[in-house]
Amino acid sequence: MTDSARDPLLDVHPGDRWLVAVAHPDDESFGCGSTIAYAATRGADVTVVCATRGEAGETVPGTADGDLGTVREAELRRAAARLGVARVDLLGYRDSGFDGDLPGGSLCAAPVEEVAAVLGSLIREQAPQVLLTLDGSDGHRDHLHVGAAVREAVAALEGPAPLLVEQCLPNSLLRRWLDEMRAVRPDTAYHALDPAGLGRDDADITDVVGTSDVLDRREAAIAEHRSQVSPFEGLSEGLRRAFLTVDHLARVRLPDRSRQRPAARSVSARRGRFLFPTEAASCRRVDPASRSTP
Ligand SMILES: [Zn+2]
Repeated sequence: MTDSARDPLLDVHPGDRWLVAVAHPDDESFGCGSTIAYAATRGADVTVVCATRGEAGETVPGTADGDLGTVREAELRRAAARLGVARVDLLGYRDSGFDGDLPGGSLCAAPVEEVAAVLGSLIREQAPQVLLTLDGSDGHRDHLHVGAAVREAVAALEGPAPLLVEQCLPNSLLRRWLDEMRAVRPDTAYHALDPAGLGRDDADITDVVGTSDVLDRREAAIAEHRSQVSPFEGLSEGLRRAFLTVDHLARVRLPDRSRQRPAARSVSARRGRFLFPTEAASCRRVDPASRSTP
């Protein structure tokens, strides 16, 4: 296979450039940490660009004395180092929070076009082969905003575009998570969640990447976010492994460079960002013929 025909997601070569765009410190670890570590350990030069410093995050009591943005930026930098990230850039927006009025200077107060322009210049500067982001299917407005800006930035590029990949939480896995949450925490609001609305439709998943070999890095990165409650805390061992040792990815195609924005999803599970995988062993493309089979 010639290098131009190489699949940069499944055949990572030393020196490949990956750009990872996220909204908050911890998204890189709680969200797509396994895929980052997977790329970094294969020699990719990974940059994480984080739109905010996570000022609106809810903290574990006693872990964040002083300015929360400063604390969380430091956590981000330590976690990124654990994952093997070469560079961390911050865009300097304020965390919008889950809901309510938008703080001045917050990410969601900025037009998508503005955020896309900033990301677009980073993409042109770094010319990554792979552009990785979260799919926003947990419904956090900052995640959706970054996702929309990433798509807009790619759609506006002249010339070669990176492979755009979204890290997803498949509906089947979140149903498993919901079953467990309802069993162990029967008194919580989880009963109000509609299983059908959770996460990403399994049919959208294009790639399943086994990441057991980088589990130690992922765990170390998660642990660096001491001010935040890990979404994996308290899960059964089987479910925890399902989240942390397989990543589900969706390649995004923007036909005709038309401006496409992801539809806002109405997932309302606000507290637990979820993340999981199944028992896949290694990287593979999903056979399109099998995608309708959950
Ligand atoms: Zn986030």
